[in-house]
Amino acid sequence: MNRCCGETVGAIEHAFLQKYGAIDNATELAKLTAVLEKYRRLAGSIRIFSELRVADIPAPAAAMIMRAKCPVCADEQAIIVVSSAILLAIEQLVSLYGSVVLAWDQEPKFRELTDADFAAFEQIIADFVERGAASFSHIAPTMERAPRHVRAAFEKMIDVAKAWVVAHELAHFYHSSFMFSADPNFMETKHRIETLLERAAVDQGDLTKENWAVELFADAVATDTLAIDLQNHHDDIPALERLLGGVGAALEVIYRLEIAVIGLRCMQPDFVPKHPPAALRWDAICGGREAKLAAVLGTISQKFATQAQSTQGLAPLDRI
Ligand SMILES: [Zn+2]
Ligand SMILES: [Zn+2]
Repeated sequence: MNRCCGETVGAIEHAFLQKYGAIDNATELAKLTAVLEKYRRLAGSIRIFSELRVADIPAPAAAMIMRAKCPVCADEQAIIVVSSAILLAIEQLVSLYGSVVLAWDQEPKFRELTDADFAAFEQIIADFVERGAASFSHIAPTMERAPRHVRAAFEKMIDVAKAWVVAHELAHFYHSSFMFSADPNFMETKHRIETLLERAAVDQGDLTKENWAVELFADAVATDTLAIDLQNHHDDIPALERLLGGVGAALEVIYRLEIAVIGLRCMQPDFVPKHPPAALRWDAICGGREAKLAAVLGTISQKFATQAQSTQGLAPLDRI
């Protein structure tokens, strides 16, 4: 990156931190960078097209990409800022889901959920909603009692989920860059999503459809990028399982947090204005592919969420 561009990126970041009263979090950035290094193609794209930061943001925000043209050389620059709270929430919620899985041979089996499990779920959500990063206890529910291979699977899901959040933001950059119309794969993805939305979002207005198309495009590009990276990992868990398990983890966590934030603010728990519902995002990503890891996660998370909704007196969560 040119020196002039470095200054542009610095200025965007400074304005962002000021606006939200946020603080750079170098420790979480180092952890995230270490995760991303396992995904070389993704890590390479981030280095080429953007700068990455992790920040403690008081408000419950997740991740965003901001762009600006360098006033000196006219290059387009982008900075991705990920909230440390979303990374911790992913770690904590996925660990909580993993901690209830007892065995996994042909089919996963999980134990009855206790009041303590539900309380832990509520605490993680409440910390995120009420105080953003500032209140996180930094203690993930322990997966100690889970069998080793189950623990390994859930730990990998956490990695993929975090990498996917970053990949999704980077994909927003592609959507508004010159690469978009030059790449036939991107055009094909865009077309596939538009066709899906014609069928699945009939009752939505044009603006919502447009917003959802942008989000589903970013989901698809992020998932494809990670898929290529994961093909090169040799592992006892098949690449597709790990990919969809991790993407499922990210979607589940984001959906739970988003619903909780919106639900508490306006008591309309199913109203998600900008992002499509998790089920639609999941459909667009999977396209009928079977994913056991992700299915298990969805089932467990549904149980937690239903309990949470009823204790808060909110309408039952319908995933549409
Ligand atoms: Zn420049
Ligand atoms: Zn997005």
